[in-house]
Amino acid sequence: MNRTVRRPRRKPAARLTDGGNHALNFINTFKKDRKGGFIDLLTNYESLVNWAQQTDLINWDESLGLWNEGNCNPPEAELCYCTARSARNTLDELFNDLLAGREVHPLVIDRFNDQHNHVRQHLRYETGTDGMIREHFYNINEDMNLPLYLIIAEAARLLDTGLWRQIKKCPACGSLFMDVSRAHNRTWCSPKTCGSIKKSQRYYQLKKVA
Ligand SMILES: [Zn+2]
Repeated sequence: MNRTVRRPRRKPAARLTDGGNHALNFINTFKKDRKGGFIDLLTNYESLVNWAQQTDLINWDESLGLWNEGNCNPPEAELCYCTARSARNTLDELFNDLLAGREVHPLVIDRFNDQHNHVRQHLRYETGTDGMIREHFYNINEDMNLPLYLIIAEAARLLDTGLWRQIKKCPACGSLFMDVSRAHNRTWCSPKTCGSIKKSQRYYQLKKVA
């Protein structure tokens, strides 16, 4: 008799960190869980590459290349992972301070400038297919810091364009997300998770009171 083995269903990282922007998704890889503790989706370099591929920050071929690089050079992979975690702390502080209307500490801005300077070394102006000259990443596909470069570039774009003003923080889990709704009245990171949990909690409280 044929039996199909049911594989455990694993939530793709995309659903756990979807803030509508790669820099926010990256910050959301460290978040509150439902029991009041914290979960960190990034535990080593491999998990960083997995997350980057699942959230479409990098494509499948790029992720395979980075997996190979990481396997061939574990110390460098560990260094890239630590650099990424430290950058995540910087971005977390920077955007949370901006959202809360607090002055961003000069040391946080210094750290972001350092990270951004690394990224800028890999940018070149080139003529695109439409004839327009724009800044493009140059020769970074096999660089083990590729996910981080793309994240920092995205964070810089949020700051440069003023789009950071559309960022909101979910009151339930603390995730950051872009509120692109027409009325700018989105409250939860996801109506299906945090939104529905809060609604059922309110319903339970009302029932208790009644
Ligand atoms: Zn949430």
